[in-house]
Amino acid sequence: WHLTRALPFIIDGKTIKWFGTNTDIDEQKQLQRQKDDFLGIASHELKTPVTSIKAYAQVLGAMLEREGEHKKAEMVLRMDAQVNRLTNLIGDLLDVTKINSGRLQFNKTWFDFNSAVKETVEDLQHTTQKHKLVEDFSATGKIYSDRDRINQVITNLITNAIKYSPHTDKIIISTRVEGNEAIVCVQDFGIGIPEDKKDKVFEQFYRVSGNKQHTFPGLGLGLYISSEIIKREGGRMWVNSVEGKGSTFCFALPVNGDSNS
Ligand code: ADP
Repeated sequence: WHLTRALPFIIDGKTIKWFGTNTDIDEQKQLQRQKDDFLGIASHELKTPVTSIKAYAQVLGAMLEREGEHKKAEMVLRMDAQVNRLTNLIGDLLDVTKINSGRLQFNKTWFDFNSAVKETVEDLQHTTQKHKLVEDFSATGKIYSDRDRINQVITNLITNAIKYSPHTDKIIISTRVEGNEAIVCVQDFGIGIPEDKKDKVFEQFYRVSGNKQHTFPGLGLGLYISSEIIKREGGRMWVNSVEGKGSTFCFALPVNGDSNS
């Protein structure tokens, strides 16, 4: 049983507000499951047409380029970039339904930690001209983990760092080994996070509200997905931040991995 609503309650003829209701936890769980099922089916159904739009956009862009229609080709390229955003949003929704239903799968292998981070940093440097991604690597060694999922986490932290530092250009990506943990941190000098909101940013659909929030698009899922991935890989994730000065998001993974899970 759950305490959610205020109900009037009468004692000795006086009406007293009584906080408590009869919302059954099972009922809530079932509603949550129905919501997850809906999200899962809807995002799966959205994926097919979006993939097909992307394929047509790429063919069309190449055709226009060949015909010397550079302006039109440029517009199709922008369309393609928006389709990528849509694909990422759908991917996030699918991941959330997988996490919530315990169906997120990991394909673990041994891989070199630094080169995985480096690869992602180099890929992302191509997507931004304004921001300079500075590498400060001192970790060496291999971890036993899902490389694509770890890349997804690093990508998420760096794209957030870019998104939430519109007026500064430096982002530092560092790696180090401490004890039996490999640690990756992404530091930006952007808007930062208010002290009382720092823990909440890892909750699903949570976004720090503020007058400027509308300028930063998003669903509030990236950090939830990232922290769940890291948790399920036997690691932990945290943030240090000062509002108005910037944030440092870090995660740690066991260097020796857990090859049985
Ligand atoms: P999204 O960016 O789509 O809103 P996330 O789950 O990635 O979702 O982040 C949740 C919230 O945490 C964001 O809405 C933002 O308020 C805050 N946040 C995340 N990364 C940063 C950052 N580097 N600097 C400041 N705030 C951040």
